[in-house]
Amino acid sequence: MPHLTILRGALLPLALFLFVLTPAPVESQLFQSGIDPRIEALLEEVDEERLLHNIEMMASFGTRNTMSDTEHPDWGIGAAREWIRQEMESYSPRLQVSFDAYDVEPAGRIRYETDLRNVKAVLPGRSERRIYVSGHYDSVVLRGWTDDNPQPPADSDDRAENRFAPGANDDASGVSLAMELARVLSQSGIEFDATLVFIGFAGEEQGLVGARLHAQRMAAEGVPITAVFNNDIIGNSMGGNGIVDGRTTRIFSEGPEDSLSRQLARYIRRTAAWYVPGHKVRLIAREDRFGRGGDHTPFNREGFAAVRMTESREYYDRQHTVRDTPDGIDPGYLARNARVNLAGMASLALAPAAPGVAFNMLRRGGGYDAQLQWRPSEGAVGYRIFWREAWGMDWEHELYVGDVTEYILRDISIDDYHFGVAAVGPDGHESLVSVYVRPPR
Ligand SMILES: [Zn+2]
Repeated sequence: MPHLTILRGALLPLALFLFVLTPAPVESQLFQSGIDPRIEALLEEVDEERLLHNIEMMASFGTRNTMSDTEHPDWGIGAAREWIRQEMESYSPRLQVSFDAYDVEPAGRIRYETDLRNVKAVLPGRSERRIYVSGHYDSVVLRGWTDDNPQPPADSDDRAENRFAPGANDDASGVSLAMELARVLSQSGIEFDATLVFIGFAGEEQGLVGARLHAQRMAAEGVPITAVFNNDIIGNSMGGNGIVDGRTTRIFSEGPEDSLSRQLARYIRRTAAWYVPGHKVRLIAREDRFGRGGDHTPFNREGFAAVRMTESREYYDRQHTVRDTPDGIDPGYLARNARVNLAGMASLALAPAAPGVAFNMLRRGGGYDAQLQWRPSEGAVGYRIFWREAWGMDWEHELYVGDVTEYILRDISIDDYHFGVAAVGPDGHESLVSVYVRPPR
């Protein structure tokens, strides 16, 4: 087919030439990008049976209440965290697994002096920038026990906090998901640019204690956390009202509308549309469910991007009760939610860091144009700019502009739209979008 080849050879430069001559924005499809076959292969590795098995194992310790037995070999939070630690250690010698431990004095809902330990696995990347996937492994039941429930062994203690609290969906599901990503990503052989952290928090049910202590420690040490994917109540597909939805993940993110967390939420929806087609990511412009909390919030308080990933339809009569058992888990749904996390986490970890922008780097060009500037990102081969109606919730337009640090959108008023820019790496992976917003006054 020599003629076609010649024709193509002639047309491509012509097309590029016309493109350069036509600076008016090209309205490309939003969900259009090169899919990385390596990430597609990783998605295949996510294993429903392992996800369910992890939850069954965590529930088998009777309770994981933060104030339950820490010494007994098979009942209470001590045995549970030791199992999580050993399990993650078995995945790969590349994973650095440890307890992130705190002595917590009695205060608030922590009624006793407590040896609180988060369980953490780190997969080092080329850079210090960290991406987290998390859940909380502690559980709670406050009332409603019967003689039919499993009872603490005689050689364990008799505190109310040591009674049966299976916490299968809340939140062994989130921890199981984080563990499965630790396994798949550490065994992949891929060297990521970002350092990946897989963590199970404790003390969530007493007021986000483990996540708060950890986020404060990271902020004090100046550790750059780019993103936290917090998964809490993520494995049940049937609401207590009988409505079933195993094809939607909800993501809650704090405002304002162009906060780092909102960029992360938009990013996860974008990558899920590429890699987990048929699964809907529903973005919710709220910090968390109405009147409720989660471990992403302490990270937000320290200035980090962090979102809550959660199931579409909750079953409230199971949460914090003896009925939160593994039979309430839909492993296929949990696996799809794990793939949504994996697609976002791996894409972000393979991308360069987001470019630096400042409010005054968006200017009124020749008077009627949008002139965008940004600071280059190490490892970027190009940049993609985004804009949307100032009333819009998600990006509506995007344009790949190549390896430049300035671009002019003709006849686009900077008053009427929000603008942002992402760095693109050699394999097409894209950073979070950096947005031109006025700093808080
Ligand atoms: Zn929870």
